[in-house]
Amino acid sequence: MAVKTDIEIAQEAKMLDIRKVAAKAGITNEDDLELYGKYKAKISDEAAKALEKNEDGKLILVTAINPTPAGEGKTTISIGLTEALCHMGKNAVAALREPSLGPCFGIKGGAAGGGYAQVVPMEDLNLHFTGDFHAITSANNLLAAMLDNHIHQGNALRIDTKRVVWKRCVDMNDRELRNIIIGMGGKADGIMREDHFIITVASEIMGVLCLANDMKDLKARLGKMIVAYNVDGDPVTADDIQATGSMAVLLKDALKPNMVQTLENTPVLVHGGPFANIAHGCNSVRATKLALKIADYAVTEAGFGADLGAEKFFDIKCRLSGLKPAAAVIVATVRALKYNGGVPKDELGQENMEALKKGIANLDKHIENIKKYGVPVVVTLNAFITDTQEEYEFIKKHCEEQGCEFALAKVWEKGGEGGVELAEKVLKAVEKPSEFKPLYKDEASLEEKIETVAKEIYGADGITYSDAAKKELKHIEEMGFGNLPVCMAKTQYSLSDNPKLLGRPENFTINVREVYINAGAGFVVVLTGKVLTMPGLPKKPAAYGIDFDEENNKIVGLF
Ligand code: ADP
Ligand code: MG
Repeated sequence: MAVKTDIEIAQEAKMLDIRKVAAKAGITNEDDLELYGKYKAKISDEAAKALEKNEDGKLILVTAINPTPAGEGKTTISIGLTEALCHMGKNAVAALREPSLGPCFGIKGGAAGGGYAQVVPMEDLNLHFTGDFHAITSANNLLAAMLDNHIHQGNALRIDTKRVVWKRCVDMNDRELRNIIIGMGGKADGIMREDHFIITVASEIMGVLCLANDMKDLKARLGKMIVAYNVDGDPVTADDIQATGSMAVLLKDALKPNMVQTLENTPVLVHGGPFANIAHGCNSVRATKLALKIADYAVTEAGFGADLGAEKFFDIKCRLSGLKPAAAVIVATVRALKYNGGVPKDELGQENMEALKKGIANLDKHIENIKKYGVPVVVTLNAFITDTQEEYEFIKKHCEEQGCEFALAKVWEKGGEGGVELAEKVLKAVEKPSEFKPLYKDEASLEEKIETVAKEIYGADGITYSDAAKKELKHIEEMGFGNLPVCMAKTQYSLSDNPKLLGRPENFTINVREVYINAGAGFVVVLTGKVLTMPGLPKKPAAYGIDFDEENNKIVGLF
């Protein structure tokens, strides 16, 4: 039997009017919804405010082992788990990230889940959705334009044009824009200088939007963003450029969480989408807090493996917002375990017990890591039709020997029904005491923070710094930002900063290449290894296979 693609399944969905979906979450007043067509809505500020008096539900984080390039199904499991909880009569809502166009047309695929555990309308979600990312791109580039205009109009702030740190952005994989020259032409065409583009999901504004509590907080954070240094070396901020108000206006709707539904018509909040390898990797604090107010169980995902996603979820998002996770689910797949055991990408469909036994060391490290945060753990195996019984038995037994709760999840194949075993384990885990605490203290120095993450989470022996990184860390501390958490940028494929070191690498160092301050978002970004803030397209981009079928009036080939 031919397996249906994600988009084919999604297009067969029987969607409910979003007003009916919202009503399931207790949002019954139609004025509380700002409708974007029939199946998408933003939740109004007034509604969010009115819900604040509700008690908080339990927060469940879905994270994973180090992935293969295809992704291991965290979104799929998050959606399936939420559906399973609802299937069991519980009140559960998922709070997820919005997809970036970069990976949609590049390599990884969408971010609306997979199989029978998807969020719909998936095409809208994966493409322009409610325009939040366009708003972020516009706000980012407005600030860039105002900054360059300030320099052109006489540069009253005495900005050092060699030290402009604000970059332009676009939500696309476009390597040619990494390093560019702007302001070429005549006198009226501006000041010539080197400039750079980043992908929108790496913009500080994405971080600001995801961490802001409300409009007041958003404006305060936007205003504090450092865009350049003046000739004396003092920071110049967005407030100094007088761009804060206009940016806030562009972001006023983007700040409101979006509601959509799963294939089983359960409500899902999808809001904000920083990448996890180059940004903080979590959906917005506002949507997560809203999910906790409208549901007894809020399921949220943090990007890539637990070394990146979960670490930043705990050490940045929870630290800065006061959120307290009740349990964490680690998603593993047979294919990623085999990949971590050294099997090449194109042979992952075949049974290989040797590689599985080797690769499972990666899972063990992630279990150990989550326990360091004091959060109860459940491991789930996201079942693929190519998995064998022997592979499955081995993983189950291994987890049980480690004293770790384990559940097989068949949500890709069966939707919520296939996630009941997992949901039962999660319901048990959230009743255990969670003694959540972040990994390091605010007062630790920036170098101590980087070292703690590298040694405790990645398993590194030590750190090396480029001269520039060392100097900038000192500078950031001198400016008074030493108490902020660090936002590690690292390859997602390895616990180390080298994508080729799979499994549970040992005897390696982490190489810090560059650091910069995101004073508005409230963290210090630390770039390790070769990680880039603007991806490129692969040799055969996913875009080759995407088309619009005008006969049948539908999109084809989008996953
Ligand atoms: P992540 O959130 O970890 O990046 P996703 O949930 O987005 O992963 O899944 C990545 C891709 O893998 C999606 O295209 C999805 O359809 C596919 N996928 C996920 N789980 C399964 C499964 N059990 N069987 C087959 N394909 C799957
Ligand atoms: Mg995902």
